[in-house]
Parts: sequence; structure tokens; C-alpha cells
Amino acid sequence: MKKTTQFLAVLMLSAAIVSCGNKTKTIDTTTETTELPTEVMESAHAQEGDASAQPIGTNNLLLEGNDAMNFLQKEFKVKAGEEVTLTLKHVGTMGKNVMGHNFVLLKPGTDISKFGLEAAKANTTDYVPLNAPEVIAHTKVIGGGEQDTVKFTLEPGTYEYICSFPGHYSLMKGKIIAE
Ligand code: ZN
Repeated sequence: MKKTTQFLAVLMLSAAIVSCGNKTKTIDTTTETTELPTEVMESAHAQEGDASAQPIGTNNLLLEGNDAMNFLQKEFKVKAGEEVTLTLKHVGTMGKNVMGHNFVLLKPGTDISKFGLEAAKANTTDYVPLNAPEVIAHTKVIGGGEQDTVKFTLEPGTYEYICSFPGHYSLMKGKIIAE
């Protein structure tokens, strides 16, 4: 009698483990094997493809901004007359309200101090005054972990870019040389 009860208990316990295990396994298969890996593989593949298809000096630019109010890249060279794709990436963790960054590309000869002061007031339009004639292209303001991409084409020349978030333009600037 005692032996039977014990045996039953073991049987029930193992049945519980099996059914529990099965349940977990079912969930895993649906979420992980069908959806996630496909996505991960695709993005990994795309990145790999981009990297190998991009010789040095072409018009695919990555500009990184950090929590220390710096752009990690201060100068780019691009081919004039061909479309440039620039991705601004915030590599920090701070929010866009305290350490927001954008990329604003300005026409040669722009008074950056004057523009920076004006731009700081444009808090409803990503700190870029509407229809500003000095602006060639710009991204939106982003916070830590975010990114935004912008495309533009340049004539030969040297162009300055800034982050126009209030107080950032004196430190966060660089140039793009189009040849
Ligand atoms: Zn900034």
C-alpha cells in the first residue's frame, strides 16, 4: 500500500514536470524560433551587407553623440553631387529633455553663435527654427539609445554642423567637406 502511494506520487510529480516542461517549451518555440531569430538574423545580415558594400570615404555617415555633450566624429569627407545618408546615434543613456542631441547642417558662412541662440528658442520644432534659410538638413532631437537618419546632397564646399539643443552648439560641432 505504502509502495503504491509512493509510486503514484512520483508518477504525478513527473507528469507535472513533463507538462510544465512542455508548456514552457511550446512558448519558447513560438516566440523564439519563429519571430525573434528571423528579425535578429535579418538585421545582422543587413548590417554585414552595408559594411562590406561600403568602401571608405563614401556617403554613408555615422555621427555619435554622448552624455558628455560631445560629438565623437568632428569631420567627414563626402562626394559632392551624390546623396549622403547620415545617421545620428545617441550613444549615451540620458533623456532627450536633459541631454538631447540633433544634427543641424548649416550653409557655409552661417553665424553659428547667432543661429544657435535663435535655435534654442525653437523648442517645439526640434530646436530648428521653421523655414530657416541657413539649414540644409537636420534630424529630430533624440535621447540616449535613439537614432535618426537624414539624407542630403551637397555641392563642393565645407559645411559646418551643430547640435542645436540649448547650450550645446559651442561644444557639439564639426564639419563635412564635400569634394
Ligand atoms: Zn546635443
